[in-house]
Parts: sequence; structure tokens; C-alpha cells
Amino acid sequence: MRISDKEMMALTDLPFDKAPPYRIKTVEYTIPTTRELRKEIMKKYGYSGRLLPAKYVYINMVTDSGTAAMSDRQWSAMMLGDESYFECRSYENFEEAVKLFTNMPYVLPCHQGRSGEYLIYETLVKEGDKIPSNTHFTTTHAWCYHKGAEPVDLLTEEYLDPDNKSWFKGNMDIPKFEAYFIENAENIPVVEIVIPNNLNGGQPVSMANIKAVRAIIDKYDKRGTKLYLDVARISENAWMIKQHEPGYKDKTCLEIVRECMSYADGCHMSSKKAALINMGGFVALRDRETWQRMQPKLIRTDGYITYGGLSGRDLEALAVGLIEGVNDYYLQDRQRQVDYFANALKSRGVHIIEPACCFAVYVDAGKCLPHLKPLEGPATCLSAQAYIEGGFASTAMDSLQRAREDTSDPLNDAKLKTAPYELIRLAIPRRAYFEPHYDWAAECLARAMSHGTKLPAFRKIKEDRPALEKSEIGLRTFFDNFEPVSEMP
Ligand SMILES: *Cc1c(COP(=O)(O)O)cnc(C)c1O
Repeated sequence: MRISDKEMMALTDLPFDKAPPYRIKTVEYTIPTTRELRKEIMKKYGYSGRLLPAKYVYINMVTDSGTAAMSDRQWSAMMLGDESYFECRSYENFEEAVKLFTNMPYVLPCHQGRSGEYLIYETLVKEGDKIPSNTHFTTTHAWCYHKGAEPVDLLTEEYLDPDNKSWFKGNMDIPKFEAYFIENAENIPVVEIVIPNNLNGGQPVSMANIKAVRAIIDKYDKRGTKLYLDVARISENAWMIKQHEPGYKDKTCLEIVRECMSYADGCHMSSKKAALINMGGFVALRDRETWQRMQPKLIRTDGYITYGGLSGRDLEALAVGLIEGVNDYYLQDRQRQVDYFANALKSRGVHIIEPACCFAVYVDAGKCLPHLKPLEGPATCLSAQAYIEGGFASTAMDSLQRAREDTSDPLNDAKLKTAPYELIRLAIPRRAYFEPHYDWAAECLARAMSHGTKLPAFRKIKEDRPALEKSEIGLRTFFDNFEPVSEMP
């Protein structure tokens, strides 16, 4: 029998605050490269972490999505995957784990986060609706447009202040939300809180913030507005609540997750993140009728309601990983790695967004390369140069690549807004890297930065491809390509 979830939480005096609570059984190689080759590769593959062949990437922090190392417990559970089409036994294990995690009565598996979002937006959202959020993720943003609705981001002022060091800068801005909700309640079927706030520095959301959003909905509701949580990394956010929000020190992260859920009507999870699996997701909710309305939509796109586009073995890996991923010892170690990496960067003079939390460190490339203007792509440039320096890949999220459209007039390029920070996201794959890797990654960025004004501006390449439709406009970052105006050092 595998070690149980309860056994994994046994009281200990082992140094889990200093070293991982696990050891490694399988390791993974990539093809070694030289600086000369990396320069060629960069030129050939468009100076972007997204376009680089992964086999040539030594340290890969382009994303933390689906990149976790699974445990012996997960791999062994996969061998028990029941691949019967209807009502497979693996569904029972999946359902039990998701109900334990969410404390919600109705669940649907789906192949990843966005297919779960589809069920919610397809069922609840209509043309002319408005969907407020702390910051929509790329795909819920796209679903809003797809349905003719407007995604509305109500980010806190604290995040916009680079000197603010408070712990929960990913929050929904409560005064802004209250005013917006009073004004638009009739047209708001769903409010989304993304926990933590992936697209804005990975900043955490506090329990108080979730409660306050709930209270505003309850107070001014005009149509049965639902609160949905986008919970890809809620387990990691729970660790931040445990550490930094008064009253949660003695709670387990699972208890904290369940309390977050208790204020919501439903949630959707990309389980490729905190649930430690390579593929999978789910929707969980309280309302039976909405759940029933989602079912035929799931069958139309993903498959029957007990597998949702996943194989039995995927459901098994998810069931184990979801609970393993909310284990306090594991989460403590995860944040320790983020802290280590943040310090490795800071000690080399690389500017980062603070606090560094949960799943990634975000570099403030605008500060690192002050000679480049936002639309000259400081993050695009620094990220590309860091790969040339030492095979380290990351994701640039600067104004050049991620300028935000005006959501009430999304096709009007003249209204594009620059990003609040010129970010590079260094997303840390789970259970994959060690301290020397973090040191080397930090070294790559520091060496890249040291070229200073020799680092060139970037510009967009005009490509011969059909224009994106309105519903797809937020996905431009996956299709636009860029080049330096002069040779990279
Ligand atoms: C990744 C992600 C999603 C979408 O999930 P996929 O599994 O990639 O479809 C949704 N919300 C957030 C916050 C995410 O990070």
C-alpha cells in the first residue's frame, strides 16, 4: 500500500523547512549546447521561450503548467487506471478527492482548465454580460469575448505601487469592485477570482478578500450572480494565507482551501498546476441544475461526464496529486525554493516583483534594462539574452508582447495599453529543480543584464497570417513574433 495522505502529514522534527520532503527516482536530460549554438537557436526560433525546442533548454521555466514531476504514489495509482468508458472506478477516486478538496457536491472532470471554463461560460454567460475579476487569465478573458461579454479586471492599487511589500497584492480591489457591482449587477452572471493572480506577478489573494467579494455580491445581487474561483494554484496560495494572514497559522492548507471554497458557488481548476499532474482539470459547484446543464456541453466537447477527456489513469494521477499538492510539508518546501530563487536573483542585482510567492519569480525587466522603453520589449530582450548566456528559458510578458486591449473596444489597436510592469515570468516546475539550478538561472539573467545598453530593442515581425477574430484577440501573444533591431551580444 502506498503511504497515505494522513501518514504524509505525521508530526516531525525533520528539517522539511530546509530540504525537500521527497527524494528523486527518475531524472530527465536535455541536449547540451554551447553559447554559439544557443545564439543560432535563438535566431532560428524567434527569440522566444515559447518557440524554442525544449530539447535545447537546460533550465526550463517557461511554464509551471503540466511540468511537475509526479510521485511514486501517482505513478502507481496510474497502473490502477480503470479505462472502462462509462462509470469507471477511477472516476470514483477522482470524485472523492475533488469533493474532499472543494467541499462542493457536484463535480465534472475535464481535460484541462480551459475546457472547464468553457462549461461555465457556455452555461452562464450571455452577450452583453460583464465578468469582473481580479485579473482574468488569458483563457477566461477569451471565453468572455467568445460569448460577447466583457472581461473586467479590477486589480488593487497596491500591486501598481512597486514599493508596496504587502502579502496579498493579487486581491480584487474592493472599493472598485463594489462600485462596479452596484452599477452593473443586472449584467453580471459570474464574478471570477483568480487565486493567486497569475498574470500580475503571481501575487496571492487573501481570505478576507474572498469574503469581502462574497459579501458585496450578497448585498447588491440583482439576478443570482455566482462567485467562481479560478483555483489552478490555490494550494500554494493557501500556504501564503497560513503564513501571513492572521488566524490561519494552526490550520492545514487543505482546511484553508476548503474555507476559500466555502464562500464560492463554484470553481474551476487547471490541475496541471498545483495538482502535480501533466494533464487534467475539473469544475466543482453547489448548484445541481447548473451542473446538469453543463453535462451535455461536456459530452459535446470532452467526452462522457465521468471522464471529461481524461483517461482512467489521468483521473487516478489527479486524485492523488490534488491532495499531495496541498500537503503542508510539500508546500513549505515549494515556497522555500521560491524564496531561495528570489534571493539568488536579488543578490545578483536582478530586480524582481516582491513578494515572490507561490509558483514563480517575476523579474521587473523594465528596471533591469532602463534604456529600453516598454514597447521596445525589455523583457523579450532580457529573456532571450538569458537563454544565450546559459540555456535558461523563461516567459516574457512585457508591453511589446502583452499590451492590453481596451476590453470595451478590443479590436481597436490605437487603444492598446502598456502593462503595469515589464515582466519576465520565471515559472518554477514542481519538484524538478535544485538550488544549483536556481543559482545558474539567476546567473544567466545577471550576465544578460550586464550587457546593459548593448542589449537591443525588439520589434514585431509583420507576418502573413489571417487576423485573429475578436473572440481570439487576447490570444495574440501566442501568434505574434518579434526580432531584435540589431545583433544580440
Ligand atoms: C493555466 C491556467 C488556466 C487554464 O488552464 P489550462 O489547463 O492551461 O487550460 C486558467 N487559469 C489560470 C490562473 C491558469 O494559470
